[in-house]
Amino acid sequence: MDPAKRASVGARSETQLEEQVKDWLRYGEDLGLGPYYRDRPPLHAIAESAAAPQTVATSSAIPTAVPAAMTAAAAGRAPASSINVAASASQKSPAATILPATAPSLFESIERIAGDTLPRIREDIGDCARCKLHKGRTKIVFGTGNPSADLMFVGEGPGRDEDLSGEPFVGRAGKLLTDMIKAMGLQREDVYIANVVKCRPPENRLPEKDEITTCSPFLMRQIDAIKPKVICTLGSCSAQTLLQTAQGISKLRGEWFDFRGAKLMPTYHPAYLLRNPGAKPEVWKDLQKVMAVLGLQPKKR
Ligand code: SF4
Repeated sequence: MDPAKRASVGARSETQLEEQVKDWLRYGEDLGLGPYYRDRPPLHAIAESAAAPQTVATSSAIPTAVPAAMTAAAAGRAPASSINVAASASQKSPAATILPATAPSLFESIERIAGDTLPRIREDIGDCARCKLHKGRTKIVFGTGNPSADLMFVGEGPGRDEDLSGEPFVGRAGKLLTDMIKAMGLQREDVYIANVVKCRPPENRLPEKDEITTCSPFLMRQIDAIKPKVICTLGSCSAQTLLQTAQGISKLRGEWFDFRGAKLMPTYHPAYLLRNPGAKPEVWKDLQKVMAVLGLQPKKR
């Protein structure tokens, strides 16, 4: 190509490039990108502001510092004892002011049914065949006790005696639970007792994940209808189901958790205590914490 022709082609492509750039700028302007790039702070300022503590206006009634532990507790997963640590930390450093995230726990996302009642929940369960446990059951074990109890016990699932009678905790473990309730200064009729699944798992095995997923919404509705002040979970299955954790019961027990407006205390299952009576003092300590919250006095001997 001769030099004159090359210069002419070069000038044309420069003009095309200029037009193309102008097109991009107009497109950016239409999208409002111009002001963003013009007005945004420099990158180092963005990084510094992200690393700095967040502050919000507070009143004296609002806790002034909420570390990540409390955020997790708001989600129903961290023990309430972590909150106390957070609260004392907040008193020392009022300048660091972060409000807790309102992240819900898993079961907070299960819809609450306004005006729900236990008879309506039982009616909805009907002659349930929603999961495979229905095949081996004799009776659905819905739950029993005071429909407006302050204290609710939640076990894992019915055993043989419960399957035959239709009532939760009636075998040897049930008798021990009744004794525990009496030791707290209450009668069995004062509390409400239910299980995570309403039908007996074969061979008394633990309920499986699909069975828990299918059946536990009925338990959530029972909790919402009863509105207990305290839920005491018995054994690992019920604690892990409600708290959505894989932590073992020996780690969870004795700690307070927040759950759907109630305080939740995990402790060992009475069936475990029958096999390991040495664990009874630990359970008694857990129950004493429950009694303190409910203002109960131990039964006089
Ligand atoms: S365990 Fe629950 S979901 Fe499964 S069949 Fe029984 S009542 Fe229905």
